[in-house]
Amino acid sequence: MATNYLDNPAVANFVEYLKIPSVQPDVNYDGCVSFLKNQAQQIGLSFKVYEVVPKKPIVVLTWPGKEPGLPTILLNSHMDVVPVFEKSWTYPPFSGHIDDEGKIFARGSQDMKCVGIQYLEAIRKLKQAGVQLKRTLHISFVPDEEIGGLDGMKKFIHTSEFKALNIGFALDEGMANPDEEFIIFNGERSIWQIHVHCTGQPGHGSLLIPNTAGEKLRYIIDKFMDLREEQKRILENDPTLYIGDVTTINLTQIYGGVQSNVVPEKLTAVFDIRLAVTVDHTEFENRIKAWCKDAGEGVTFEFEQRNPYVECTKTDASNPFWTAFKGATDEMGLKLSRRIFPGGTDSRYIRSLGLPAIGFSPMNHTPVLLHDHDEFLKADVYLRGIDIYVKLIAAVANV
Ligand code: ZN
Repeated sequence: MATNYLDNPAVANFVEYLKIPSVQPDVNYDGCVSFLKNQAQQIGLSFKVYEVVPKKPIVVLTWPGKEPGLPTILLNSHMDVVPVFEKSWTYPPFSGHIDDEGKIFARGSQDMKCVGIQYLEAIRKLKQAGVQLKRTLHISFVPDEEIGGLDGMKKFIHTSEFKALNIGFALDEGMANPDEEFIIFNGERSIWQIHVHCTGQPGHGSLLIPNTAGEKLRYIIDKFMDLREEQKRILENDPTLYIGDVTTINLTQIYGGVQSNVVPEKLTAVFDIRLAVTVDHTEFENRIKAWCKDAGEGVTFEFEQRNPYVECTKTDASNPFWTAFKGATDEMGLKLSRRIFPGGTDSRYIRSLGLPAIGFSPMNHTPVLLHDHDEFLKADVYLRGIDIYVKLIAAVANV
């Protein structure tokens, strides 16, 4: 007889949260909000909903500390999940099906409903043990992280309500790791999305007219792709580097032209670039300007997205929250691997205010399945994560 994992209320709560289909696009967050309200009541946490943008609730549960005047700890997670291709799933993606090995299948099981519930379960345990922490904890559940957080954390950080939370340190999502180490992220690359417009002499498709948009577009694509090749080689030749350590460049769209036998006046190439944290932004932009100039007359570029440089969170003795974090994980014998997050998370908005933030999802010995089919988290890994947070949250909140 297989273990009935659902007998454990921490697993049952997780499955209940996973069953709420808060899936992009056009998420209805009502189910998440009422679920969290219920959790707050059960655990004994105050509950507040901020709506910076209508229908985009930011839920904040609060546990006051013994010294409420001190800067607080933010435990952040996002409520939304990415879409699914249901046909490719072994079990329905919003069923929270648990198989014989204890694998809990659902969209959001790794990214990142697990972490949101683990925070709450850890706090429930701390409260049941009669613990009182020095600093106040704010547990936030934000919308729309999976579409860039524009109506979520990005706007929230500029409100007086956020300021009033008086945050001193934040934890947010990390990523699973198939190996023994737990990966922690102290920084993110900057996302730049650029449209390069190449204009030229239009004409008949049967001729070899000079100064065409196509010739300029080729020059531009070559320059970006050469840099891509260079970064690819750097990554391949150094086993100590991860994808977050290099600059990635991808040609994601090409548009323009009117019909097949007409040389167009304009062609545009779109590039998705993730700038490594070591790249000087001004220098990089000047390089693109120079390529456009060299490509010929009438080549310009504009930003669809241009994330500013954001300083990484310090992982040394100068950051007391890091010292506490590291101390707690050392005590538990956890092996850590520090990296730069390859994509973007809400941590970048928190760090942009100069606040320290660490990305951490306690999932070792787990394949990386975020945004993938058959996303799952094993129940034992999930439950161990709660115990990890019990120690970790206590450590950072007692700094
Ligand atoms: Zn996520």
